[in-house]
Amino acid sequence: MSTESTLTTQEVVDITRTTNYGTWRFQKGWNPMHIVDAKDCTITDAAGKTYLDFSSQLMCMNLGHKNEAVIASIAKQAQDLAYAMPGYATTARAELSKLLLEVLPKGLNKFFFTTSGTDANEAAFKIARMYTGKTKIIARYRSYHGSTSGSIAATGDPRRWAMEPRGKQQGVIFAPEVNCFRCPIKHTYPQCGIACADYLEHMIRNESDVAAVLVEPIVGTNGVLVPPDEYMPKLRKICDEYGVLLIADEVMTGWGRTGKWFAMEHWGVTPDILTTAKGITSAYVPLGLCATSEKIGDFFQDHYFAHGHTYEAHPMTLAPGTATINEMKRLNLVERAADFAPYVQERLEAIKAKHPSVGDVRGKGLFWAVDLVKNRTTREPFNTYADKVSGKPLLVDQIAGKCLAEGVIIQAWVSHFVIAPPLIVTKEELDH
Ligand code: PLP
Repeated sequence: MSTESTLTTQEVVDITRTTNYGTWRFQKGWNPMHIVDAKDCTITDAAGKTYLDFSSQLMCMNLGHKNEAVIASIAKQAQDLAYAMPGYATTARAELSKLLLEVLPKGLNKFFFTTSGTDANEAAFKIARMYTGKTKIIARYRSYHGSTSGSIAATGDPRRWAMEPRGKQQGVIFAPEVNCFRCPIKHTYPQCGIACADYLEHMIRNESDVAAVLVEPIVGTNGVLVPPDEYMPKLRKICDEYGVLLIADEVMTGWGRTGKWFAMEHWGVTPDILTTAKGITSAYVPLGLCATSEKIGDFFQDHYFAHGHTYEAHPMTLAPGTATINEMKRLNLVERAADFAPYVQERLEAIKAKHPSVGDVRGKGLFWAVDLVKNRTTREPFNTYADKVSGKPLLVDQIAGKCLAEGVIIQAWVSHFVIAPPLIVTKEELDH
């Protein structure tokens, strides 16, 4: 039976617009582009116009579109075994687990498979609380950790506000973000001696019942905030000293995006728990992972981990994970992201030199932000979240709109935009 749609583009757009929530955008003005095709770093709309995708959609399509090995893995798994309850052993799970032991930071060898980054974080919170017998999670302002009740409560950006005060019941407290461009505690690196880590230690000391510290190793959505090199080792030491677990949310920073398999490797720090999703299957299917140390895993040999999903360790999500890792290795994509970094930086610095509204460019690998300012000396952001909520036109949206007209998609967020192309991007595409 044919699965070809008989809908016109107008019908596709109208049905989508009138029956779905237009997340991120104000619903009223939502007029979604109808994407009909995609290949490698390029997507095509219904009018036949092509766009170079410099956002990897949501920083997730690291292999680009139409990767044949991943597509074949999905077809084969559907034919072999579409679904089995999580309590069974499957070849798909064993194959992926074997590869994960190879690419994850050493020592993380117990896996809980989910279907998104959000629920990988939910699993992490529950594991941390059950394992330590403590309740509080210290997260950081400007972080993003997902959209369900627990993960949005741990999110340090304004998206959580709509859920508060209910979100607060989750026992999350917030530390200042690590942002050397606009330090929230008004220090200057390196004279600060990494005062933001000291501040966090002060919080642990003055709070009882802290189970874990939760960090995005490089804050993604809220500005590609790269911590100074001393921060993660210092944080690891503090967590060890106080018996607090360190959770690294590598949903966005994992899978080669920053020029390492996982961003924590930049600082030689292994977290107790690592969560990830997105690039794990290059977004061909929805898969998330919560990986923990053996010690934490062992605890649950004798304790019932009261958690699980129907779609946990779903074979259809695991097989493409294996294919994705194999493709990343075959194409040397982690090294490729690292090798391109100086070139991307050089080109973005050139933009900064030309445009007074660019205050900062920062990033690692193929993960960069361009930060827009009103004034380079004060570093005041060009726009604020309040501007966005009030519907004021944002400079960053104008820039993204111009790029779109020129056939390039970039990710715009309040007062910065992100350059994060698929890791298969070519130099010619970067130049364009
Ligand atoms: N954590 C981080 C750092 C993210 O960037 C995201 C999504 O963008 C999430 C968690 C949530 O992941 P998902 O959208 O797969 O639920």
